[in-house]
Amino acid sequence: MRVAGALSGLMANRTKFQAIKGTRDLLPPDTELWNRVEQTAREVFGTFGFGEIRSPIFEPTELFARSIGADTDVVGKEMYSFDDRDETSISLRPEATASVCRAYIEHGLHAWPQPLKLYYLGPMFRRERPQKGRYRQFYQIGAEVLETVQPGQGGTKDIPKDAAVDAEVIEMVMTFFARLGLEGAQLQINSIGHAAENCRRGYVQKLKAALEKVKDKLGPDSQRRIVTNPLRVLDSKLESEQAIIAGLPKISEHLCEDCAKQYAEVKRQLAMRGVKYAENWRLVRGLDYYMRTTFEITAKGLGSQNAVCGGGRYDGLVELLGGLPTKGIGFAIGEDRLILSLQEAGKGGAAAGRDVFVAWMGEKAQAAAIAATQRLRTAGFRVELPPVEQKFGKALGQADKLSARYALILGEDEVATGLWTVKTLADGSQAKMSEAEFLEKLRNEVKK
Ligand code: AMP
Repeated sequence: MRVAGALSGLMANRTKFQAIKGTRDLLPPDTELWNRVEQTAREVFGTFGFGEIRSPIFEPTELFARSIGADTDVVGKEMYSFDDRDETSISLRPEATASVCRAYIEHGLHAWPQPLKLYYLGPMFRRERPQKGRYRQFYQIGAEVLETVQPGQGGTKDIPKDAAVDAEVIEMVMTFFARLGLEGAQLQINSIGHAAENCRRGYVQKLKAALEKVKDKLGPDSQRRIVTNPLRVLDSKLESEQAIIAGLPKISEHLCEDCAKQYAEVKRQLAMRGVKYAENWRLVRGLDYYMRTTFEITAKGLGSQNAVCGGGRYDGLVELLGGLPTKGIGFAIGEDRLILSLQEAGKGGAAAGRDVFVAWMGEKAQAAAIAATQRLRTAGFRVELPPVEQKFGKALGQADKLSARYALILGEDEVATGLWTVKTLADGSQAKMSEAEFLEKLRNEVKK
């Protein structure tokens, strides 16, 4: 028994842990690309006047249920929810728009200069079936523009303004993608009207009636959605349903006058900004809170999970969460997919490498090597300093493995004369120079 117990203890200690299904480790050099993408987002969004918000990773479950919609897949099936020790239900955030709206209300951000433009980046959590481009912990880069409606404002006269805001937000995403060198990004737009009898509600009734007539030819998912969320049937990717869907009534023919005007103005605004788009009347988006403008961007190299960005207008969401009547428009980019697409196109960037490998031998040389390393790093160069002395041959081999550009050789001679031996690893050439000369050479030849 004892032996068995000890053995099982031993076995337990040897358990190999693995990251939980649908989660993954991001490692160098990939993380360099992640950092470049995030840095570029900060820069580009900054030029459009956006500031960063960092909100908590978990929130009250009710916040997501109320904003995203209790009947959606995200809330109904995919959230990681659990009871806290005081028995309140909390959830890992499946997206961040609800949190941004909560923060807007909580901190009275309607009193800040309007419209308020915020961006965020960070992990989101949804219990989906993992596959390429679909994870349970994934990362989004998103932005929101919020504007509380002042007394006497709003309604029809705001249409040109809202449309310009929508178009500028879309222009910002496309600018960001272009700056990253993302190729083949395609923008699709649509308007899903607003929740009124003479607009979306009326359309959904017509759609439902049309769907009932073809119900028998639809798959079980779509049949269920006729009842729960008829608009989502338009999202179907099932081959056998495509011809049927093509014959359904289109929302673009059932928009009310204001929504139709707004949609036309968005298209005019996009054209003025040189943003190319395709219209897709089937683009309805999965989350309940959208109205009027919806958009999606697809990219190459991603297979079936090819949407890299989704967004839309959500006037009324802040009010639904207990705030003042407020307009909103935003988007979320799937960073994992964006990175995959960049890597597929060979834009992943090279391995980290080093600018300088310091090969030293001898006690005096170590002090000189440490001092030299400190000064080179201060100047911004990537320097590898071996912790113990190595024969020069071995040191140069290691410098090669690390893709170092130069080896700085410091032995007794170099310490005595103050002149460094610098070896260029690409061609094996070698030269003696002072520290100042070496720094000058690095500044000229190493791209930072
Ligand atoms: P959504 O918040 O559903 O509008 O999604 C916005 C974007 O986030 C999508 O276009 C995807 O690029 C990305 N996304 C959503 N869910 C996942 C997931 N499970 N794994 C990876 N990316 C995702």
